[in-house]
Amino acid sequence: MSAKTAIVIGAGVLGCSVAAELTRNNVRVTLIDEAEIASGTSAATFAWVNGNNKSPENYSHLNFLGLQAHERAAAAGARWFHQTGMVQVAQSAVEAEGYERNVKNIAWPEYGARPLTRAGVLQLEPSLDAERVVGGAFYPREGWIDVQTMCHSLAEMCLEQGASFRPFESVKEIRDNEVVTECRDGSLSTYTADVIIVAAGNGTPHILRSVGIDFPLLDPHAHPDERGSVGSSVGVISTTGKVDAGIRHFVRTKGVALRPSRNGGITFSDHPTGGQWAQDDPRTWQVPQTLLERAKALYPSLKGAVTKNVALGTRVLPSDGLTVVDWVGSGAPVYAAATHSGVTLSAHLAETIVRELLTGHRDESVQSFGLDRFKERVPSEAGS
Ligand SMILES: Cc1cc2nc3c(=O)[nH]c(=O)nc-3n(C[C@H](O)[C@H](O)[C@H](O)COP(=O)(O)OP(=O)(O)OC[C@H]3O[C@@H](n4cnc5c(N)ncnc54)[C@H](O)[C@@H]3O)c2cc1C
Repeated sequence: MSAKTAIVIGAGVLGCSVAAELTRNNVRVTLIDEAEIASGTSAATFAWVNGNNKSPENYSHLNFLGLQAHERAAAAGARWFHQTGMVQVAQSAVEAEGYERNVKNIAWPEYGARPLTRAGVLQLEPSLDAERVVGGAFYPREGWIDVQTMCHSLAEMCLEQGASFRPFESVKEIRDNEVVTECRDGSLSTYTADVIIVAAGNGTPHILRSVGIDFPLLDPHAHPDERGSVGSSVGVISTTGKVDAGIRHFVRTKGVALRPSRNGGITFSDHPTGGQWAQDDPRTWQVPQTLLERAKALYPSLKGAVTKNVALGTRVLPSDGLTVVDWVGSGAPVYAAATHSGVTLSAHLAETIVRELLTGHRDESVQSFGLDRFKERVPSEAGS
């Protein structure tokens, strides 16, 4: 299918990436969001870019392709991928053995993973409390994305090239080639395009219901007990104020993961919850303090650091935990993209989605990430 105009619903990391790729391919884009740029899940993410032994292997490989797409963007001048490398710190001999196995399990030599001795860890992260370090591993190609800079830069590029952005307009329904939105004052608008891409994160099922599709996304508000094994919907992302703690890499160890932040502080993610707490569990708010204490035990240089910012992120989780990119098969030219690990995957998925939209060629890397696999639940006319 050849498209000259497109509507992208959702201005998160996925929608902004798709809008930018369409714009680069001379498609005129209307980008719509019910809030602002990067205000959904993309506003509360750990943003670790990696293909580090995810399961199954083709999903891990998809993530590695995502990492490589960010590398290409950085080489072309993009300023948002901080390719610090990831240092995994073992605090016991058992952990060191486990990390060594993990390194061996990574299928691609070019990923560059390697085990580290205690001295090797301390050379990379000299501010660590040396007493705690037994060994570790290094993943030099991993890093983190400054998602706000990425989304805003991509959206700006689109606007400069003639795209339009409609913030604070909520998509109510799709009818054929038309998207109907509602503004905050209740007024309705209608937009038309050759193709419509729904990248609305957790808002995707609601939008696709209007074209008769039961989109297979887990209900982000369901209690963890009802969600099965796929994982937690809610994660806590907390950030300290500016601190020079000598932390140079993305660092993971038992009980805490941390990385430098865009404000000059340190950002933590939510390991202690283990995904078992409901969204409104008050213990959630204790997580930042727990993580900061653990980090201070590792890095004495964090003494005096305080938490400045806490965000609750709601994961976008297709019901098998993997990516969905596909035509929805409603008869209308509607394509959907929804995924966890969307920060890692965004640049690669944008390239493959836009190629598929414009040439009909479906990239090998996404062959198994269509809607067909849910055909028990979804009408299987995908591929319009
Ligand atoms: C705690 C946590 C940690 C994470 N860590 C990582 C990580 O380390 N690495 C990684 O790669 N990924 C990570 N992720 C996942 C990643 O953040 C998400 O996959 C990604 O942000 C999803 O982006 P998106 O653009 O698909 O969705 P969103 O960012 O949610 O964007 C969707 C947009 O659609 C808009 N929208 C919704 N409904 C409508 C409607 N009806 N009309 C108009 N607009 C609408 C919303 O306002 C929103 O702006 C993490 C997620 C969480 C929650």
